Amino acid sequence: MSYPFPDNTDSYWLKSLPDSSFAELSDNIEVDVTIIGGGISGIVTAYQLKQSGYRVAVLEQKTIASGTTGGTTGKLTSQHGLVYSRLMRKFGQKNAKTYGDAYERSLKNIAEIVKRESINCSYEKQDNYVYTTYRDQLDVFEREATDAASLGLPVSLVGSLDLPFDVVCAVKFANQAKMNAYDFTHQLAKRVAMDDSFVFENSKAFSIKDSDPCLVKTKRGSVRSKHVVITTLIPPLPMFARFGYAAVEYPETSYIVSANVKKRLKGMYISPDPNHYSILQFRQGSKNVLLVGGESHIPGLGSAKNRQTALADYARKWFGAETVNSAWGAMDYMAYDGLPLIGRVYPWSKNLLVISGLKKWGLAGSMVGAETIVSIIQNEETDQVKLFTPHRLSAPLSIPETIARNFFH
Ligand SMILES: Cc1cc2nc3c(=O)[nH]c(=O)nc-3n(C[C@H](O)[C@H](O)[C@H](O)COP(=O)(O)OP(=O)(O)OC[C@H]3O[C@@H](n4cnc5c(N)ncnc54)[C@H](O)[C@@H]3O)c2cc1C
Repeated sequence: MSYPFPDNTDSYWLKSLPDSSFAELSDNIEVDVTIIGGGISGIVTAYQLKQSGYRVAVLEQKTIASGTTGGTTGKLTSQHGLVYSRLMRKFGQKNAKTYGDAYERSLKNIAEIVKRESINCSYEKQDNYVYTTYRDQLDVFEREATDAASLGLPVSLVGSLDLPFDVVCAVKFANQAKMNAYDFTHQLAKRVAMDDSFVFENSKAFSIKDSDPCLVKTKRGSVRSKHVVITTLIPPLPMFARFGYAAVEYPETSYIVSANVKKRLKGMYISPDPNHYSILQFRQGSKNVLLVGGESHIPGLGSAKNRQTALADYARKWFGAETVNSAWGAMDYMAYDGLPLIGRVYPWSKNLLVISGLKKWGLAGSMVGAETIVSIIQNEETDQVKLFTPHRLSAPLSIPETIARNFFH
């Protein structure tokens, strides 16, 4: 069926214009840490560094949260598909626990920030479910629930959901959350841009000198600082880093459609089954707005319209959606081994750090990135710092596995 898709490709979130804007950098300034990129990773990192006593400057080339953060879904969760059995198999129990604990702590920290800073971003606690409609998947889901429980995560296995179709079972993570990440990032940026710290829009970083201190230049100004943190999905500079990171991570584009529906859902849902998608619902006034996301692919392969139509068909078939309010696409990077990439840009970097590879779970991942960066700047060699280092060999060594999963399944 063909839908009257909206003319523009703005996300549901970008339609609500923020009440904040920030000046362009037009001076030479000095702070403790420069953050390049004003998405959720950059802003949360800036905020956490400020909380630890550092003066920061954020440089955003366009406007705050106009990148992938403005095109996200909105789930805050430590449950990233059936991730824990895989992590235990690949990295062992201790590392899987480091991962799960970091993401659970991130949820708590974000909840605290929303409260402490009175951020109005439709934040709401909700349970998250990964379900299957295939009977032969039951043992895989049971194993995931057992493995996640052995790591102390808030997991249980359930046999039915409030979805309009039957499921065989679902792995439930309790006490997760959802929020409007666009509003959250904007309002937090305002808290960052106070007390000798800065947020600049329309200020593209076009050169970075990794030294002591570092120097970042924009068209009309520069920032001198001890450390620089790059949070631009993949490091755009120096060019060598861009090529180097292609050996450890790859991009994926995904789509979301939003539509008003009658049914009100109690949880957040996703499934690895073919033809099932990520499902999230928000209230807008008296309306239930359903977001259906998925149809991921390597950028450049396939038509956005066909993929969005598949999502809209699903919203109509199962939830009775009649019109599509918004339809958009966004991109994120995934490390080949499935862990985020957080640490020094190169093994020999003096003071140049990066947060990347948040693998479409970067809302909670932003805080995991921020926490790891604060540890590195404070010279703490935590298990988390060691696990997420961008220089681990498991990332390039997992390229064949990723190719097999994407092209031969
Ligand atoms: C369709 C989709 C759905 C998703 N749903 C979820 C979800 O439900 N839950 C979840 O946890 N995650 C989700 N994700 C992932 C999550 O949205 C991302 O991981 C997260 O938003 C990434 O944030 P970021 O700040 O790292 O990147 P971005 O938001 O892209 O920010 C990077 C910023 O850097 C700026 N920039 C680039 N180059 C420069 C430069 N040279 N100088 C200055 N600035 C520069 C860009 O303009 C951009 O604003 C989803 C992702 C996609 C694609």
